[in-house]
Amino acid sequence: MTSANSPTFDNSYAKQAERFYSPQAPVTVPSPELIRINTDLAAELGIDPQWLASPEGIATMAGNHVPEGAEPIATVYAGHQFGGWNPQLGDGRAVLLGELVAQNGIRYDWQLKGSGRTPYSRGGDGKSPLGPVLREYILCEAMAALNVPTTRALGAVTSGELVFRDQALPGAVFSRVAQSHIRVGTMQYFAARQDTDAVQDLSDYLIDRHFPAAAQASNPIFAMLNEIIGRQATLIAQWQSIGFIHGVMNTDNMLLCGETVDYGPCAFMDSYDPATVFSSIDRNGRYAYGNQPSIAHWNLAQLAQALLPILDNSPDASEKSAITLAQQALDAFPELFLKAYQNIIKDKLGLNSFSEADDPLYQDLLTLMKQEKADFTLCFRRLAELADEAECINNSVRELFDFNDSFTPWLQQWRQRLIEDTQTPAQRQAQMFKANPVFIPRNHLVQEAITAAERNNDFSFFNQLVDVLKTPHTFDPEKQRYAMPAKPNEQVLQTFCGT
Ligand code: AMP
Ligand code: MG
Repeated sequence: MTSANSPTFDNSYAKQAERFYSPQAPVTVPSPELIRINTDLAAELGIDPQWLASPEGIATMAGNHVPEGAEPIATVYAGHQFGGWNPQLGDGRAVLLGELVAQNGIRYDWQLKGSGRTPYSRGGDGKSPLGPVLREYILCEAMAALNVPTTRALGAVTSGELVFRDQALPGAVFSRVAQSHIRVGTMQYFAARQDTDAVQDLSDYLIDRHFPAAAQASNPIFAMLNEIIGRQATLIAQWQSIGFIHGVMNTDNMLLCGETVDYGPCAFMDSYDPATVFSSIDRNGRYAYGNQPSIAHWNLAQLAQALLPILDNSPDASEKSAITLAQQALDAFPELFLKAYQNIIKDKLGLNSFSEADDPLYQDLLTLMKQEKADFTLCFRRLAELADEAECINNSVRELFDFNDSFTPWLQQWRQRLIEDTQTPAQRQAQMFKANPVFIPRNHLVQEAITAAERNNDFSFFNQLVDVLKTPHTFDPEKQRYAMPAKPNEQVLQTFCGT
């Protein structure tokens, strides 16, 4: 079964030594049906959207058909899960179908998630219920629209079979696209086995695929580590700026290419509180909103540790000199994070620049937001409206959120601070709108989309939600329902793993 329009695969990971993976065909499913395809992304990847929506494309997304050129594999990795070391993980419910080189010249993985057991399955069935597939689709596309580096949704299909968790649930398979699925945990896997050749080979591969500039440096591995640390610092700053809580920042869920991955028990924070945790399995709050920067730093320390044997390439290298380099790279993280974060806060507050002197203004706002249990997203959005109020009289979120009297002194200070800057109110508002989205994938909306699909096979709300979230920075009063925080009876206080 081949067709003229089927995509052209160009696999590189499957060409590496077999210690990096196991060849693994996806497990077939009884009767797949299309949920949705991402036409724009397909086109960028050079996949004919018509082919993707055709029976052959659907069969491919379901794992029932392996197109010519695809070389499905399950990759191996290890990882620290909630701080505890797990020496053997791997794609236990996913296969990497193959790679495609997109129109922008970037190489992407096409992975099927929920495609059945592999040698790395940990007892589970390797399948996925529909709910987590829809959640991941919504979340990663919303993040992409918010300009956050992320894995993408190419498409999703139902499988026509039930998967058994606490209850029988409809099954589905998710087509995930990433610049690569190589994780901190992938490097850790080989380091823990003291397989220094593999650590070196994997690093060479990473430099070639993601960090070509590092190849030119006098110490390419050190340069790569610095680049990875820089990308994570920017990524986590972006998460913090929109109230995104990943939920499971284990080292096997941190991609070295710098994209957000694994939208399991993740959620966006509603009312501001740095202690916010959603994940049902995060009993100690390790991955709470406010902890994310330090957890990223900790994960990067695990990466640096794994790289130690090859980190110093000078003739008189020793363990001590490698540790010094690792420490130097890691010590840069807090400052890199802070700079990236302040750069976004500058936009969120509508300032020309953010200096240390502005920090109290920002901290005071956070304190007020916490005290007033203000909705994080709407509070910033309303602030952006105030930058040029006349402009948004007919399309304001004011009905959904407005500043109460306790904010009045702060708002005066903010206006006072704005006088120092030269830009016009319209310019300021444009800057603020770009940094202060109005539509985020709120938990109760995601839940509503999942429930309608699970119970009634009705994907209309899912589709509407995905569409609304494509333009997160533009308010439209007709879409007000999608901007509203949960009513008390709609609140989702816990989110669950995809497994
Ligand atoms: P994740 O929750 O995606 O970070 O998964 C952590 C580990 O559990 C990975 O090694 C997965 O492959 C494995 N895993 C998760 N769900 C399943 C499942 N349904 N069947 C088999 N293995 C799974
Ligand atoms: Mg994972």
